[in-house]
Amino acid sequence: MNKIEHIGIAVKSLETAAIIYEKLFGVPAYKQEEVASESLKTAFFKSGPNKIELLEATSPESPIAKFLEKKGEGIHHIAFEVDDIIKELARLKTEGFVVLNDTPKKGADNKWVAFLHPKSTNGVLIELCQEIE
Ligand code: ZN
Repeated sequence: MNKIEHIGIAVKSLETAAIIYEKLFGVPAYKQEEVASESLKTAFFKSGPNKIELLEATSPESPIAKFLEKKGEGIHHIAFEVDDIIKELARLKTEGFVVLNDTPKKGADNKWVAFLHPKSTNGVLIELCQEIE
């Protein structure tokens, strides 16, 4: 695992939250993107090397809608950059982590992504991500 790639924050309204984060970072989102397969919309903010991903549900079936229902707005996941997501997933599985998707899927911001279930990581949803070449 390399550095923390970004932190994901679940929000009720991307539009409202984007105004707040725009003020916080002093710059607007550098990217907005819909991930139809996950029924969500994202906005990415950058400050120096740090990235924040805001996530809004686009349907009640979205994992973000379910998260908001259970926990309310707040930190949804921490994403780590990896060089070889397949290899890293295999390693983490042998270490006993519960992997949510065995096969990496296309996430936002041009990344292959896979998630570890929070029950195996002390309550934190962990995302692994690798830049798509
Ligand atoms: Zn993410």
